[in-house]
Amino acid sequence: MSASPESYFPQDYRGARKAFIAACEAAGVDVIARVHPSAKGPDGKPLFLDVCAMGPRDAQKALLLICGTHGVEGYFGSGVLTGLLRGRVAPPDGARLVMIHALNPFGFAWNRRVDESNVDINRNFVDHASPPANPGYDELADAIALRDVSDAGFAHADAIMAAYAKQHGQAAWQQAVSGGQYTHPDGLFYGGDRESWSAHALRAVLREDLSRARKIIAMDFHTGLGQSGAGEMIIEAAPGTPIHDRARAIWGSLAASTSAGESLSAPLTGTIDHGVAQFLPGTELTFAALEVGTVALEQMVRALRLANWQDRFAPDGRRAAEISKLMRDTFYTDTPAWKRAVWALAEKTVNRALAAL
Ligand SMILES: [Zn+2]
Repeated sequence: MSASPESYFPQDYRGARKAFIAACEAAGVDVIARVHPSAKGPDGKPLFLDVCAMGPRDAQKALLLICGTHGVEGYFGSGVLTGLLRGRVAPPDGARLVMIHALNPFGFAWNRRVDESNVDINRNFVDHASPPANPGYDELADAIALRDVSDAGFAHADAIMAAYAKQHGQAAWQQAVSGGQYTHPDGLFYGGDRESWSAHALRAVLREDLSRARKIIAMDFHTGLGQSGAGEMIIEAAPGTPIHDRARAIWGSLAASTSAGESLSAPLTGTIDHGVAQFLPGTELTFAALEVGTVALEQMVRALRLANWQDRFAPDGRRAAEISKLMRDTFYTDTPAWKRAVWALAEKTVNRALAAL
């Protein structure tokens, strides 16, 4: 009677949205759609951020689930949200459950991590009047966002990257590349120079759906880092802090701190948890990103550099379809085994969060 959860993983943004809305309707839950004011999908049609909420509006406790912050990584999170709805997920009595589908619909529809302005939404939550510096990125900028993607071009740029990693260490290299930067709008992991549409929309959703909550657990679904199908709950707070303690109490050893070097992720700037904390002051927030692995880090960075080249520097669209597929394959392992593995992780971590409310 009910299909297996991995069957809810979508083939594209349009199908993902349709399946999410249908699952909401089947569960008797209303969906609020927010249309993007300017960006369109590859089909020329409008793009939407969709939100559903269950439980009382004035609930003091809530679980917030977000997918598609990094666009193309939304295949995973969308499948999870739809699967949860089809499995009749429900918040505990008196609590609220809010789902945000496709926070960055442009990236999802176009198989990109970034939004329509090349902004990484998960680096966008900073004070744009004085954004953080990333001197390592500045040093490597031309090698990261290379303009010559021939074999020789890559070899030259990779040699510069390798020299940096050798001099400063692999962790420093990863932080320089991926930590977030605010100086190169044509580069990778660019956090923008203003609040993005997605960040603005998130603020509106939180105000409408969660302004009464005093205790919030939030999970943002990501893909990329780690062994294929494995996962971790990435948090920023270091061991010994209340947030780290709470995350460990909920997710056990899956909770991994970036600032303490426990995580596969480098420490990042401008992440979405800062936005949520800032939009909901006085709330006890436990925010984690469930990151599930797809391909090796070097492969991921190469795909991102090619996508950046295609969008910023390519003379024509000759390689556009190939690179779009490469991006999809890099952040979405479209196989039954991978979907089963990441679904199991998502279901387990969501259930623990619900139980912790
Ligand atoms: Zn991500």
